[in-house]
Amino acid sequence: MAEQNWDDLGIDLNEEVGTSSEAYVPSSQYPPPPPIGTYTFRGVGDEYTWGRSTDGALYLRGKVELVSSDAEVDGRRADIFISSRVSPFRQDGTDLDDFVRGCGDKPSNGSRFTVKEIVDIVAATWQQQRKGYLTWEGYCKECRKTIARGKTGAKKEDKFGFKALGFAGEDGSLNPNVVCPLCGEIVTARGKIQKFYAA
Ligand SMILES: [Zn+2]
Repeated sequence: MAEQNWDDLGIDLNEEVGTSSEAYVPSSQYPPPPPIGTYTFRGVGDEYTWGRSTDGALYLRGKVELVSSDAEVDGRRADIFISSRVSPFRQDGTDLDDFVRGCGDKPSNGSRFTVKEIVDIVAATWQQQRKGYLTWEGYCKECRKTIARGKTGAKKEDKFGFKALGFAGEDGSLNPNVVCPLCGEIVTARGKIQKFYAA
């Protein structure tokens, strides 16, 4: 390398750059995720947060890791989003019910859980192994929108008239990279656990 004049470049060699050790995640942890399907997983550390969505549902968002005898899969991370919202497609249970009732816990009043009961159960069982269905989601950072999900995409348009793409090609094979139809950026799939079964 030729003699470099750092001062001319305005670069201070003692300046810290890049990602902190606490925040750094190796790129091998990022897409493409393992194939869509059912996996055993467990919550990572205490990496989850609670929130309330605009429709009033309680939700839990966090990071999980897959547990598998397959070295390609074992330890891979996935996102998880668990809501107490009753879906129009399923009136007899919610994701959050599946998640906590799958541990064998029952509401103390015999009917529905209180938020406190749910929060306590999740705190006690977050790192316990569960089974779940891993799907792919493609989030466009430019558009701040999920533009692809699952094999075949959304069934209907959202309120903005947008219909999420699927990751399956015409021959049915999955390609983790899709072109955002709104801005043209290439968006790569991330793994997301979206259904929960008792382990
Ligand atoms: Zn986009």
